[in-house]
Amino acid sequence: MAAALALIVGGGASPVFALDQVWARGVFPIRDFHGFTSHYGPRRLNGVPGMHRGIDIAAPSGATVQSWWSGVVVDVIDDGLCGIGLVIRSGAYQHIYCHLQGQTASGVYRFAGGAVRRGQRLRRGQWIGRVGLTGRTTGPHLHWGIRHNGQWLDPARILRAMARGRRQGHARVQPLG
Ligand SMILES: [Zn+2]
Repeated sequence: MAAALALIVGGGASPVFALDQVWARGVFPIRDFHGFTSHYGPRRLNGVPGMHRGIDIAAPSGATVQSWWSGVVVDVIDDGLCGIGLVIRSGAYQHIYCHLQGQTASGVYRFAGGAVRRGQRLRRGQWIGRVGLTGRTTGPHLHWGIRHNGQWLDPARILRAMARGRRQGHARVQPLG
């Protein structure tokens, strides 16, 4: 775990304690947490082996989705798999949110209560959408994925580091992006 996190931030020289305090600044992407329905890793879908490149977070339809970190919206997705989704870049990280509720047009995602456009700068914890049923999903949930320099990570590792960092208390450290 420690080695994996060191790898995530790219250096490896920083003590894990300090790393966890960096992660503590992250915001859980669903405001009202109900549990996880699917973990990161290999899985079979209709008998076909595949890879689940994120975690599924259970939430009622319409639940508030918030940005894990400050960053820039680099893509507004609307396809048959992710459904309506957002890709947000924070330094070397990209975080992805899928199956959102609302409409998209010309790089703008609109939901009841707000809108997010491609190129927009976001604050940490900013309200970026609502949980929905768009794309390939059988029930309302948030699919949340994280890439670092193009490589998918298990977001559960990040969430665990966030929890550890909160227990240790916040420190005056540089944000990641
Ligand atoms: Zn998923």
